[in-house]
Amino acid sequence: MTNCIFCKILNKEIPSKFVYEDEFCFAINDINPKAKKHILVIPKNHVESLNEVEDTMLLKHMFDAIKKINKQENISHFKTLINTGKNAGQEVMHLHIHILAD
Ligand code: 5GP
Ligand code: ZN
Repeated sequence: MTNCIFCKILNKEIPSKFVYEDEFCFAINDINPKAKKHILVIPKNHVESLNEVEDTMLLKHMFDAIKKINKQENISHFKTLINTGKNAGQEVMHLHIHILAD
């Protein structure tokens, strides 16, 4: 998707350090962290939001990735958050799961 920040980060058009990457998703530190550790887990395919997910195996894959990321980042107590739709606070219209840990 041409005008999508997360697609641009994935395509290296916007530089960003990946804290995790596999075949289907990647993770970056949030640019405006709302906790000591604030990581975004993002599918490589452009899916606008949870409402547009067709194969829910993607979500299983992302939660499996979260377990790996948390192990890597020494996170054991954390919150996950998915904002879906502008009225619910979704600012970037490319699905992502927030990991928040203090
Ligand atoms: P949303 O409100 O859509 O659930 O969350 C979008 C998140 O993406 C926000 O927490 C915001 O700080 C983060 N964000 C927006 N633009 C960028 C960016 O260019 N780089 C990174 N690392 N995070 C971003
Ligand atoms: Zn995108």
